[in-house]
Amino acid sequence: MKFFSVGILGNGSAVPTRIQNPTSQIVQYGKSRFMIDCGEGTQMQVLKYHFSYKNLNHIFISHLHGDHFFGLPGLISSFNLYARTEPLYIYGPPALENILNELLKVSATRLRYPLHFHALKGSETLYSTDQFSVLSFPLKHSIPTWGFLFKEKPENSRRLKKSFVESYSPGIEEMHKIKNGSDYIAADGTCLPNEDITIPPHKPRSYAYCSDTSFNPEIVTEIKNVSVLYHEATFMNDAEDKAAEKLHSTAAQAATIAKMANAGELLLGHFSARYSDKIPLLEEAKAIFPNSLLTEQGTVYRVDEY
Ligand SMILES: [Zn+2]
Repeated sequence: MKFFSVGILGNGSAVPTRIQNPTSQIVQYGKSRFMIDCGEGTQMQVLKYHFSYKNLNHIFISHLHGDHFFGLPGLISSFNLYARTEPLYIYGPPALENILNELLKVSATRLRYPLHFHALKGSETLYSTDQFSVLSFPLKHSIPTWGFLFKEKPENSRRLKKSFVESYSPGIEEMHKIKNGSDYIAADGTCLPNEDITIPPHKPRSYAYCSDTSFNPEIVTEIKNVSVLYHEATFMNDAEDKAAEKLHSTAAQAATIAKMANAGELLLGHFSARYSDKIPLLEEAKAIFPNSLLTEQGTVYRVDEY
């Protein structure tokens, strides 16, 4: 099973604090890395927490509030100074393309690597290989905003039981046939039915990123049965009016979405600077969705099967 994780570089909202950086994350699937959002200071966080840019060729920007993308021009520029040659693909709101082009122009930055821009629109597949895909879907916020779903494609082949392999040591070709449903004929002519010597394929794992957004049950269809859901929890329920006014969510609302979506695990983030102690946010979420976690910067969360 491939390594699948999300690393948190920044989980704060709006302004940076001494302990909270604006939003950025790195999703890793196998050897590939994907960045989501790139708030100011993201490069410093990458260095501080020893994250890597290796095989990072795709950056997804959810919306154009500064705390989600003001770090991007600096990162593009640094990649040039690091003598990057691989193409970089950026997916973001349509206006981002001109912003980046203008910044490159006025700073006389001549990129030595190809930069490709994809303007987000509605729900669509942005990236796809035979094993993995990244999809976008709209969120409800004060400006156009998108969420992203990273998901494994279902495996077709069954898995061999360890006890069978140890007892019978089948050849590579034989194993391939069994994974595809064949029975096994032992040396003494006994037939071992496929269902006795195999187990079902892994359940495909998925990770959904929903920030920034107001409480919006419409997204549940996009993220149904997601393994791990990151949902913003800018406020607590006592500031529900403020959350609604600013088109953000409370911890209880994030947990409600996780429950409705039948998520495996909920990661909370995008915390307002007003909460120095975040345990009450966690308690509020756990009362509705017990498998909730407060994200911590510098921590890598595995995306497991649920
Ligand atoms: Zn925002």
